[in-house]
Amino acid sequence: MTTRNPFVAGNWKMNGDIVTNEHLFTALRAALERVSIAQVEVAICPPYPYLGQAGAWLNDTGIAWGAQNVAEAPNGALTGEVSVSMLLDLGCRWTIVGHSERRTLLGETDETVARKVSMCVGGGLGVIACVGESLDEREGGRTEAVLARQVAAIAPALREADPARVVLAYEPVWAIGTGRTASPEMAQQAHAFIRARLLEAGVGGASQMRIVYGGSVKPSNAVSLFEMPDVDGGLIGGASLVAEDFLNICRAAAVA
Ligand code: PEP
Repeated sequence: MTTRNPFVAGNWKMNGDIVTNEHLFTALRAALERVSIAQVEVAICPPYPYLGQAGAWLNDTGIAWGAQNVAEAPNGALTGEVSVSMLLDLGCRWTIVGHSERRTLLGETDETVARKVSMCVGGGLGVIACVGESLDEREGGRTEAVLARQVAAIAPALREADPARVVLAYEPVWAIGTGRTASPEMAQQAHAFIRARLLEAGVGGASQMRIVYGGSVKPSNAVSLFEMPDVDGGLIGGASLVAEDFLNICRAAAVA
């Protein structure tokens, strides 16, 4: 039996400023004193400009910090991009890649996502790789085909990866920021499918890789999702902007 420590990451998206972040970090630290999340690996992913601020506030808390995106090249003439080594320089342990907002609104393809995953694995930065189907795809019965395609694109980059530094995030697009959550059974089915596809694609470490669920996770639905055998935690958007909610979701991961 494989044990996978639960993993919960907060995706702040393009929210915050120095002052409101400071309030959130202060509340997070205060909540951390009341909520025991010792066995859960937790990360906060603020926008790039606030990674230094995150480091200063989270340094001694056991909570890691990470980015929401990374460049697909190591360095060079790529105005506006941020590399793996720069994120490591800022103390980041993780980055999200392939979030559906970047795929649908900013034109990221499976190939782009695969190059970013490869850059992270090669550079020693933990990667939270997002996959998930749109509402049309689910309603058209294409969920597994879409997940299979997205997983096949990144699998070659994951074959040599340290499983502890790889997290897959199953995020059905129709559940992100909508208040509509996948049922625990739907999430379990998708997660088991993703794990099976990784194994079939020769990713030997897949049974040790965390597969987390994202899409309108709240303290009220977190336990039922995290209780599923292949749901190893969550990627949290809206609820990560409220310290008490985020920590309660982490606590749900600890008890589930
Ligand atoms: C996300 O953006 O990754 C996400 C899961 O958002 P929310 O929790 O707000 O649905």
